[in-house]
Amino acid sequence: MSGAPTPDECRHVRLHVGADPHSLPADVQAHLATCDACRRFRDETLMLDQRVRAALELQLAQFRTPAKSAPRSRRFALAASILLGVFMAGGVWLLRTPPALAGEVVEHVLEEPDSWDARTPMSPADIGQVLDMAGVDFVGDVPVVYAAPCMFRGRHIAHLVILGPEGPKTVMLLPHASVDGRRAFSEHGLRGVLLPAGTGSIAVLARGADVPADLEKALVSAVRWR
Ligand SMILES: [Zn+2]
Ligand SMILES: [Zn+2]
Repeated sequence: MSGAPTPDECRHVRLHVGADPHSLPADVQAHLATCDACRRFRDETLMLDQRVRAALELQLAQFRTPAKSAPRSRRFALAASILLGVFMAGGVWLLRTPPALAGEVVEHVLEEPDSWDARTPMSPADIGQVLDMAGVDFVGDVPVVYAAPCMFRGRHIAHLVILGPEGPKTVMLLPHASVDGRRAFSEHGLRGVLLPAGTGSIAVLARGADVPADLEKALVSAVRWR
């Protein structure tokens, strides 16, 4: 690969990294050598992978200790505290407030400026791969022109751009970030809303325009967390 990385290349690379960050084909490694964003994605995926493994090993070790050494209730309390510790180490952001979430979403989108330029609808197969990696279903007749597997608050998410009559809108599907109600925000020339969707939320952003209300409804009903 030569020249600036295209969204297509980045998507393929991230799908590889998400499937197995430890063994990557040569072309993926070559891309990582030239693309800062994907390299960061790889590093964060490796960190995530390590944290999950460490948590699993701790739990296994805990449950392997003979029953005599600790009463059942104590073992359970220990396992729970380990889980809580892992949760806290990896999930401090869960305690942050919705305005912080809006700021993080805006920051994320600003780092992917090319995402706004896509105009060609992507194939259902290509979109499906990204949704699979993010663990979400997105069913609706909204034309998706950009779909990237991204890292957000410590997990893989689907970052989409849909193309409506009023121009492109960015849609980030966030199964792990909940909001207690609709929140509108406006930062750095981007206007958007955080919408509650089941146990998670959806962030919708537009450049210099409001997000149409009927689109909000359509998006919320299009999303199913797996
Ligand atoms: Zn890339
Ligand atoms: Zn992204």
